[in-house]
Amino acid sequence: MRVVTRKTNLLGLSRQELEDLAEAHAQPRYRGRQLYHALYARRERNLAALTNLDRQFRAILAAENEITYPEIQRAFESCDGTIRYLLGLSDGKSIETVYMPEEDRVTLCLSSQVGCAVDCRFCFTALLGMQRNLSAGEMLGQVLAVAAARRIPHGARLNLVFMGMGEPLLNLPAVMKAVRILADPQGLGIPLRRITVSTAGITPRIPDLAREPMRPKLAISLNASDEEQRTALMPLNKKYPLAELLRVCRAYPLRPRERLTFEYVLLEGVNDSDADAQRVAALLRGMRAKVNLIPYNGGPALPYRASPLERVLAFQQILTERGIPAFIRISRGQDIRAACGQLSLEGADATAAREAGL
Ligand code: SAH
Repeated sequence: MRVVTRKTNLLGLSRQELEDLAEAHAQPRYRGRQLYHALYARRERNLAALTNLDRQFRAILAAENEITYPEIQRAFESCDGTIRYLLGLSDGKSIETVYMPEEDRVTLCLSSQVGCAVDCRFCFTALLGMQRNLSAGEMLGQVLAVAAARRIPHGARLNLVFMGMGEPLLNLPAVMKAVRILADPQGLGIPLRRITVSTAGITPRIPDLAREPMRPKLAISLNASDEEQRTALMPLNKKYPLAELLRVCRAYPLRPRERLTFEYVLLEGVNDSDADAQRVAALLRGMRAKVNLIPYNGGPALPYRASPLERVLAFQQILTERGIPAFIRISRGQDIRAACGQLSLEGADATAAREAGL
């Protein structure tokens, strides 16, 4: 009988963990730092090719370990250039990562969990239920796999948003471990100001995030203008009410020039009236905040419709007139169902999609 021993994936290990690994093999700790740099800054995938490591150490490493990215199973390309990647994980589960090119930069939308426990009524990921947390390595792997597929060079302007599947603040230790490696100049080298974590409002975790020395930007999914409406759309509002959420947001220690982002998905006839906009303006008065208005991306499985454009514009105007900067987030990749909240459910449904170069 052949015994198959699984190799350990080094992706996701911190500098310290790699130094410890070197030490465990009777190597100086700096060899761990070389490994760290090779994994994340040079994006090496072949341990045997790390010729700057001691030969014997390299051989031992390669016998027991490997560097594996999530596997790109499918890619759906939208007419606006957005590509939605279906990535396969080592346990057979899949997640989605979305690549969104803009004129002078690229944004990647990352998943933090397989499925989600939060159960927002308008969100497609909610229909999957919660399956499991992603590891830091699986989050870094999303960036590395897509960067390799799109040939994004090290140092290219890259924005990362944790707005894919899952609730990042319910997987905060792994998200933070990934962020520290992403933002480290010796790691992936993506500045913290280009990394945004978006939360449905897990109120007690917000001060935890505030205490992190390497803190990404924070976005909060507001989506409603009062308690009752928010509870109807986001049942977690019962446990973490809007009033308390906003109190915690007001206490959030922003850096110079930093603002909190509030996301607001506009649902026709549900949360998009002038009175809603006025209430949102009142809720956010005096805060260093901006609002991203997100046109809803619907589908047959859910009973909501997107607000018409004139509603979106009227809503925006009411906010800006009251001194709250409000932006309309053009929804990307609608034709491939890559728009936010639509990830993964129809992973294999290529009818609305053109498969991209795979
Ligand atoms: N759980 C986190 C991050 C994932 S959702 C959060 O709630 O912020 C990312 C954003 O997509 C949220 O602002 C959410 O309100 C929005 N969203 C979810 N489903 C959507 C849909 N069908 N159309 C448009 N936006 C949606």
